[in-house]
Amino acid sequence: DVSNGKTNSKIYRRIPNIKFTKLFINGDFVDSISGKTFETTDPSSEEVIAKIAEGDVEDVDLAVKAARQAFDHGSWPRMPGCERGKIMNKFADLIDENLEELAVLETIDVGKVFSFEINVDIPSISKELRYFAGAADKIHGKTLKLSSEFQGYTLLEPIGVVGHIIPWNFPSAMFVLKCAPSLAAGCTMVIKPAEQAPLSALYLAHLAKKAGIPNGVINVVTGFGHTAGLAVASHMCIDCVSFTGSTEVGRLVMQAAATSNLKTVSLELGGKSPLIIFDDSNVDQAADLALFGSLANKGEICVCSSRVLVQEGIYDKLVEKMIEKTKTWVVGDPFDPSTRQGPQVDKKQYEKVLSYIDSGKREGASLLIGGKPRREKGYYIEPTIFENVTDDMLIAKDEIFGPVMSLMKFKTIEEAIERANVTAYGLAAGIVTNDLNIANRVSRSIRAGIIWINCYHNFDSGCPIGGYKMSGFGKDHGMEALEKYLKTKAVVTPIYNSPW
Ligand code: NAD
Repeated sequence: DVSNGKTNSKIYRRIPNIKFTKLFINGDFVDSISGKTFETTDPSSEEVIAKIAEGDVEDVDLAVKAARQAFDHGSWPRMPGCERGKIMNKFADLIDENLEELAVLETIDVGKVFSFEINVDIPSISKELRYFAGAADKIHGKTLKLSSEFQGYTLLEPIGVVGHIIPWNFPSAMFVLKCAPSLAAGCTMVIKPAEQAPLSALYLAHLAKKAGIPNGVINVVTGFGHTAGLAVASHMCIDCVSFTGSTEVGRLVMQAAATSNLKTVSLELGGKSPLIIFDDSNVDQAADLALFGSLANKGEICVCSSRVLVQEGIYDKLVEKMIEKTKTWVVGDPFDPSTRQGPQVDKKQYEKVLSYIDSGKREGASLLIGGKPRREKGYYIEPTIFENVTDDMLIAKDEIFGPVMSLMKFKTIEEAIERANVTAYGLAAGIVTNDLNIANRVSRSIRAGIIWINCYHNFDSGCPIGGYKMSGFGKDHGMEALEKYLKTKAVVTPIYNSPW
């Protein structure tokens, strides 16, 4: 009984009757042209859940043709915005109606905690669709008084066919984060989900069709990055690529865009975000925020606060409190309602995190708690906290994408700002203080796309998020996201004998 906070893992593990495993092109579920498939596994059992069609260059080409046709000749870009909004609202209703099934898919495919999926993550995606459904009929240009002989106006037109390449850590949320503003703009699209987590994308494609989104508007090509992903980034008939993933792959996507048709690019990339805790903070609340910031979703969040900078006056008390709380942080079956942390998404990610833990030990950081794999089966890792971490250590510089926190002690506000900014990334930052002046000063001094004061991981459809520095450019959420999928056209005409 989910509503009572009780979930029976055995029941949910029986449910998965995976309905959609094929590519979604032009409104139909189809095999890949090669007939090849790949396996997706449950990271808590290491068992194969389903075989998924493996799309490649030719499949992407078919999907782009469908999207191109739907854009150049179809109804979606041409219908009144309010009509698009109506269909998007229907899509949102269907997500709500199928909340439980989507939450199960996310949990078995990625190891995400089920109670979070059903109560927070999946409900947030229907809200996202409704937010942009409401924007679909409010896309307006400007009138321009150019000179006494000319006047003009701007038209905001959909950018065209969009390629969305998305990661595995929030598969449904990423799908909707990308498709909602581009649908509102009137674009058509090809979505390439991550190979680690293809199930919910295909399920959402089915719901989009049921909601009445015309064939060809949303196409989903499952497959690998270096084949299907690269084909999207380098396709000559895609007008814009919107990528979320690692900085390393973001660079490749930008290169592919540059060497193909100069499609516009937006990149939402990795991070190494600081959470700065000042002396005046409440120890209990600060400890909760630090753990939540670093360990939520097993540390598999681009904005997670993997560097926790703590002022020296509160340091010892905070460390004691964090150790106490980490001991109660339950790692285990993601369907169990008491679980705070499920398994890492796959073996590769699990091994990568463990190797960073080794590097932390080797480089001289002190392991406060955790540091080991947990359980014989499944990719579980203990929540791990290092202290005495210096800015030059790998665990302080690289994005680990796992449940590993690096603690650093600082003395002055200037030192905190400097060390917070020492990273090559600039995705997010957190500040814990009751001093308004410190909060304001530090917020303005950190080079990052979002600053959370006395909170963390607070996302909202209306609040733009996206990086500075090597965390990329372009925003998701908010009206800024809509702008990515629009092109401005100026129309100029002479006006004779104008009185003004
Ligand atoms: P990834 O970069 O390995 O893969 C992301 C997507 O790119 C996948 O769909 C993958 O198949 C595809 N891809 C891989 N190689 C490609 C290529 N050569 N050409 C085109 N596409 C290719 O990232 P991941 O491991 O799936 O996700 C984790 C990363 O995503 C982390 O770095 C994390 O910080 C980042 N992320 C960022 C945000 C954000 O909003 N900034 C959000 C979530 C995740």
